[in-house]
Amino acid sequence: MSETGNRPVALVSGGSRGIGRAVVLRLARDGRDVAFCYASDHEAAETAAKEARELGATVLVRRVDVTDRAAVKEFTEETERTLGPVDVLVTAAGIIRDAPLVRMSDEQWDQVLRTNLDGTFNFCRAVTYSMMRRRTGAIVTLSSVAGVHGNASQANYSASKAGIIGFTKALAKEAGRSGLRANVVAPGLIETDMTAGLSEKVTKEILGSIPMRRLGRPEDVSDLVAFLASPQAAYITGQVVQVDGGLAW
Ligand code: NAP
Repeated sequence: MSETGNRPVALVSGGSRGIGRAVVLRLARDGRDVAFCYASDHEAAETAAKEARELGATVLVRRVDVTDRAAVKEFTEETERTLGPVDVLVTAAGIIRDAPLVRMSDEQWDQVLRTNLDGTFNFCRAVTYSMMRRRTGAIVTLSSVAGVHGNASQANYSASKAGIIGFTKALAKEAGRSGLRANVVAPGLIETDMTAGLSEKVTKEILGSIPMRRLGRPEDVSDLVAFLASPQAAYITGQVVQVDGGLAW
């Protein structure tokens, strides 16, 4: 429980924009205090923090690069010191650096693997021992349909997101007996800054393969994350749940 207002505490990576921001607001609305980090967009982070505070949450927001292990550890410790033990972790920070494999640079590969996969490892490892010791906790990691099916020009992203699935399933097996649950959410195409750059032609093609005939909204994802983090999902662990409008790849 939180030392600030007896509210359970959630930690979210990449909470300033898009899906992470929707998760922060949803968890705040559900009655949690929230700590979240971002990479560089200070203004977006402050706006998300203000909105979460208006929903009654105590909010801790920090600029922390998820690839920086020491900074992630420090941020997690600061969260536990100021808000209380972390009950829920959601790893939403992620990037794309798309290119066909033959033209993919070392930097494009390294940046995506470090941010998406190493970033997930860094946050999960930082909270797991404390959750296991307290015999409670829910972790929700963000993968993608690209991690389940693979996607052309996204070998780096697909590999990072497939890695997150294997990682989370392993964690669920390791920590289940200690009362910790770990599940994966794999979104399809969601309307955020990450997909804002898609051309009209590509968007039209994608819409043709989505039975629901629309892109997802960040809230479609945060609703699922909130459920998996809640006591209503008490017997669900090690699962990959797609939220993709039925997208057939
Ligand atoms: P987004 O709108 O681009 O937001 C990304 C968030 O991650 C921002 O808060 C950003 O912070 C943060 N971030 C990026 N790199 C970081 C780093 N090194 N350290 C700390 N924070 C970092 O992305 P999104 O569309 O919401 O995606 C959220 C997650 O869902 C990602 O893992 C993504 O792969 C996954 N996903 C998205 C889609 C989709 O269609 N949008 C589909 C499947 C999966 P700044 O604001 O400071 O940059």
